[in-house]
Amino acid sequence: VERRSKWKRVLRILEELEAACDTPVKRLRQVVDAMAVEMHAGLASEVWGHFRCSYWVVLLFCSFSLFRSEKGTFYALDLGGTNFRVLRVHLGGQRSLSLKHDVEMQPIPQNLMTGTREDLFDFIASSLKEFVEKANDPDQLAARRRELGFTFSFPVKQTSASSGALIKWTKGFSIENMVGRDAAESLQQAIDRIGLDMRVSVLINDTVGTLAVGHYQDPDTVAAVIIGTGTNACYLERTDAIIKCQGIFTTFGRMAINMEWGNFWSSHLPRTTYDVDLDADSPNPNEQGFEKMISGMYLGDIVRRVILKISQESDVFGPASTLLSMPFKLRTPLMAAMHEDSSLELTEVARILEDILEITDIPLKVRKLVAKICDIVTRRAARLAAAGIVGILKKIGRDGTSGIAGGRSRTNIKLKRTVVAIEGGLYTSYTMFREYLHEALVEILGEEIALHVILKPTDDGSGIGAALLAASYSSYD
Ligand code: ADP
Repeated sequence: VERRSKWKRVLRILEELEAACDTPVKRLRQVVDAMAVEMHAGLASEVWGHFRCSYWVVLLFCSFSLFRSEKGTFYALDLGGTNFRVLRVHLGGQRSLSLKHDVEMQPIPQNLMTGTREDLFDFIASSLKEFVEKANDPDQLAARRRELGFTFSFPVKQTSASSGALIKWTKGFSIENMVGRDAAESLQQAIDRIGLDMRVSVLINDTVGTLAVGHYQDPDTVAAVIIGTGTNACYLERTDAIIKCQGIFTTFGRMAINMEWGNFWSSHLPRTTYDVDLDADSPNPNEQGFEKMISGMYLGDIVRRVILKISQESDVFGPASTLLSMPFKLRTPLMAAMHEDSSLELTEVARILEDILEITDIPLKVRKLVAKICDIVTRRAARLAAAGIVGILKKIGRDGTSGIAGGRSRTNIKLKRTVVAIEGGLYTSYTMFREYLHEALVEILGEEIALHVILKPTDDGSGIGAALLAASYSSYD
C-alpha cells in the first residue's frame, strides 16, 4: 500500500509537469501575438519592451544585391562561445548555392576568457594571421587589402555596420576592460599590432550572418533563427517601419533586426516551478526567459530538476544521488539520447542515468517515466520556438493573416514563399525537437499556409555570412 501511494505521488508530479508545460494551439497563438506586439513596440522605442533588452542591433541590408557580382576571397572571424572560427570564402562573381569556403576552429583558452581585452584579441589576431599566411590567396598577389567580417555574438550596441560597443559579456566570458568598448575596433587594433594587412569591414552577430547566407542562397529568406546553446533570431524589416530610424536610413529598402529573442517574455509562456528555480539559481535571473525554456544550455537541467524532485518525494530513483543535485550535470545531448532511446528495455536511459547520475537498477516503468519527462520538456521548447517563428511571420505579414491589426480574411491573402534560415545544434541534431517544432508550425499556421513556409538549415552560416557582408561592404570603397 505504501509503495502504491508513493508511485501515485510520482505520477502526480508527472501530471503536474505535463499540465504546467501544456501548449495547446490556442496558447501558442497567444505567444505568437505577444511576440508580434513586442516586435512592434521595439521598432518604436530604444528599449524592447518586454524583451527587457537595453540593446538592439540594426544593420543595413541594402547591399544584398551586390553579392551577385562580388569576386574574390573574403575572410571572417566568428566568436560567440567557447570556440572561435576563422573562415575564408571564395566568391566567383556569381551567386552560387554552395559557397566554397575553408574553416578552422579553435577553442579559446579559459584564461583568455577572463583576462584582458588585449590578450584575447592578440590571440585571435595571431590565429587569423597564421590562417591567412597558410592560404594560397590570389588576392595576396594582387596586393589588395583584405576584408574581414567579424561575427561577435554577444550583446552589442551597434553604431554602424562596422562598429558596436559590448554591453555585457555572456557565455562564460568576463573581460573587464572590454565592456563599453568597440568590438570591431578592438580586433582591428590587434590586427594592426600584429602587422596583418586586413580591414574589419562589418560587425555582426550569428543570427545576422545566418540571415545573410540564407538570403544569398535563397532571396525568399526573411528571417534567421539560431537554436543551439542559446537561442536568438533576426529578420528583415522594411526601413520605413522602423520609427526610430525614420529619415536616417529610409533610402535603403530593408534592414536586418537582431531581436535578442532569448530575452522575450510573456505571461502566456507556460512556466513551471522548475523554470522559476532554474532562473533564480542562474547568474542572470529575470533575463533570457524565453531562452531558458527553449535552448540547449537549459533543457537537460530542467529534466534534472524534475528527476531530483521525484527522488526527493519518493524512492523510485533509489538512494539520494548527490550528482543529481549538481546544476547542469545532465547535458541536453544526453537528455536527447534518453528521449530518443527506441530500445524495448530503454537500455540507453538506464546507461545514462547510471553513468551520469549514478542512479542504478531502475525498473522499466521508471525509465519510461524519465523518457516521458524528456518528452514533455522538449515538446514545450520546440512548440514555443515554433510560436516565436510564427510571431516573426505575423509581424512581417507572412503568416497568412494581414499582420498585427487583423481584419482581412485569410482567403484574400496571396501567399508568398517564405524561407527562414535556421541553425544550431539543438535543431539540427535533436530529431524529436525538430519534429515537434515542424508539427507545431503546421498546427499554428494551418496546413495550407504552412506549405509556403520553409525552414532551411544553413551550415557555418554565422561565419560565412560575415564574409559575404564584408564582400558587399567592400564595394563602397
Ligand atoms: P553554439 O550554439 O554553442 O554556438 P551549436 O549550434 O553547435 O553551437 O549548438 C550546440 C548545442 O546544441 C549544445 O550546447 C547542445 O545543447 C545542443 N546539442 C548538440 N547536439 C545535440 C544533440 N545530439 N541533441 C540535443 N542537443 C544537442
